[in-house]
Amino acid sequence: MRLKRLWNYLTKILIPACKLEYQENGGSKMHGLVDFKTNRQMNEFQDDKLNEKVKNIAVLLAFYSWNFFNKRLIITDILRTHQEQNHVYRDSAKYKKKPWRSVHEFWRGVDIRSHGLTDKEIKILVTIANTIEYDKNRPNKKTCLYHSVGKGGKHIHLQVFISS
Ligand SMILES: [Zn+2]
Repeated sequence: MRLKRLWNYLTKILIPACKLEYQENGGSKMHGLVDFKTNRQMNEFQDDKLNEKVKNIAVLLAFYSWNFFNKRLIITDILRTHQEQNHVYRDSAKYKKKPWRSVHEFWRGVDIRSHGLTDKEIKILVTIANTIEYDKNRPNKKTCLYHSVGKGGKHIHLQVFISS
């Protein structure tokens, strides 16, 4: 129940406040709050196809980081086409044998750069995001991972389940 209250606080108070800030600054950038690797991620972040919940979680972490670490989070990846997914795992024998889909192919994933954050800051952000349940039927599945995929570097990965 405590988590439910926290989630209500986030969605009803904190996130609308962030959105206001976002709108008042022209929409191209959430001023002082979040940054993007390239224009591609900036456009994808504003695309209606992006899952609202994963977007809200990214905004929440950005707000926290901005407020408490005095650091702007950088969103590095949102949408990944199937072709790009194949490219990420081009050297994985496991993937070649049985390819799997990524939440990023379905607008349900957001990656955040961890370079520039301390280990403690990363741990705090991962902990906050993981107070939000991924799938009540699969409690071992997490909303937030600190991982690397394919040949890429470590980053903070956010994901939400299909019915979210
Ligand atoms: Zn990811």
